[in-house]
Amino acid sequence: MDFKEYRQRGKEMVDYIADYLENIRERRVFPDVSPGYMRQLLPESAPVDGEPWPKIFGDVERIVMSGVTHWQSPHMHGYFPALNSMPSLLGDMLADAINCLGFTWASSPACTELEIVVMNWLGKMIGLPDEFLHLTNNCKGGGVLQTTSSEATLVCLLAGRTRAIQRFHERNPGYQDAEINARLVAYCSDQAHSSVEKAALIGLVRMRYIEADEQLAMRGKLLREAIEDDIKQGLVPFWVCATLGTTGSCSFDNLDEVGIVCREYNLWLHVDAAYAGSAFICPEFRTWLRGIERVDSIAFNPSKWLMVHFDATAMWVRDSTAVHRTFNVEPLYLQHENSGVAVDFMHWQIPLSRRFRALKVWFVLRSFGIKGLQRHIREGVRLAQKFEALVLADHRFELPAKRYLGLVVFRIRGENEITERLLKRLNYRGNQHCVPSSLKGQYVIRFTITSTHTTLDDIVKDWMEIKQVASLVLDEMNI
Ligand code: PLP
Repeated sequence: MDFKEYRQRGKEMVDYIADYLENIRERRVFPDVSPGYMRQLLPESAPVDGEPWPKIFGDVERIVMSGVTHWQSPHMHGYFPALNSMPSLLGDMLADAINCLGFTWASSPACTELEIVVMNWLGKMIGLPDEFLHLTNNCKGGGVLQTTSSEATLVCLLAGRTRAIQRFHERNPGYQDAEINARLVAYCSDQAHSSVEKAALIGLVRMRYIEADEQLAMRGKLLREAIEDDIKQGLVPFWVCATLGTTGSCSFDNLDEVGIVCREYNLWLHVDAAYAGSAFICPEFRTWLRGIERVDSIAFNPSKWLMVHFDATAMWVRDSTAVHRTFNVEPLYLQHENSGVAVDFMHWQIPLSRRFRALKVWFVLRSFGIKGLQRHIREGVRLAQKFEALVLADHRFELPAKRYLGLVVFRIRGENEITERLLKRLNYRGNQHCVPSSLKGQYVIRFTITSTHTTLDDIVKDWMEIKQVASLVLDEMNI
């Protein structure tokens, strides 16, 4: 494809994308395909000779779109949002064309510098204390864009491990790192995301789960008891992950209490705010950040609710020393005239190479402005409140956990099996899509407002379908 054809095909692609997003409501949200469907439609090997673009593009609807779950659909209520927006798409179009790998400042100065700026902007937008920002050349704190929250959690767990091992060495000389590692214990609530468990698996440290209270929040008292217990057994507590906005029900750990315990025992406190972090741009939702002054690291995904498409996880650390010590390798070919003076983000992450993600974030923040993004978050919460009211008005249903932000969890009263059947039927019909979760043994359906296209009419339509299918299920089960 030459430049002339690229100009033409590129414009066609933009039109296709605009049509796709504009008319997404007309598509079935969940595809009607079975595992392996695509292999039937494609040859076993790649073509030997190149094919003309119209032939390739002509296959997109039949082969790809037929198997897509449409996450931008107003009837998508599964997981958490993974929104996009026009400025964000344009940002990556440009970033993909530049395609620089900004591992050091010198490998593409604009990539690093714009990331520093947008991370400071975002940090201020959610009300982080100044220690988390890149304020001067030699400040210790700062933010970085990681790929995912899972990766941010792992990076912070590994940094906490580095700090704990170093401190242990200082107090008890003569031990091997591996011996100390074997004694380390991390903590999170039993509501934390599976990526926290995964971080501990990779870091080869024990993970202890603290039972959440009836509000599904981790509290200081049980955390302290677990730590005391482990110390008595000769273990070394070193790291805690508090979740602000859990996956199961969007509940919030008590950051204030947890932070006090972490300070008392000198533990690294990481905050996973993957979904709810976007809401902190609205001052009324920042109450959950009480205690942030005792936090070592925090991450949230603008790629979930903030109109920046995947991937983009904003992560901040109060003191990057331990992060650098964990990830710093500096072969000659990566050194440059400003090494040690300028920020080299390769020392803040696991891979070497990194995309120019800041561009799409910058386009979004400038296009919507803080006020535009606040409006968008508040609208999502408003629609969730409407859905909550609809559920509450039908006595057959219950809300086993309080609604927070844009997530409502509900179930049909009675045995789990009834709600399980309801969800299976709904997803099979394909008009809307939800996923389940288990809250203290209760099977619930999670209904999240995920799309910027969602209107009150969409919510009402989906609720009418839920009610209708619930009646069928209850009849079928003679209830
Ligand atoms: N943490 C929480 C609370 C989540 O809800 C999720 C995903 O929804 C994650 C972590 C994982 O996010 P990621 O896919 O960015 O790793």
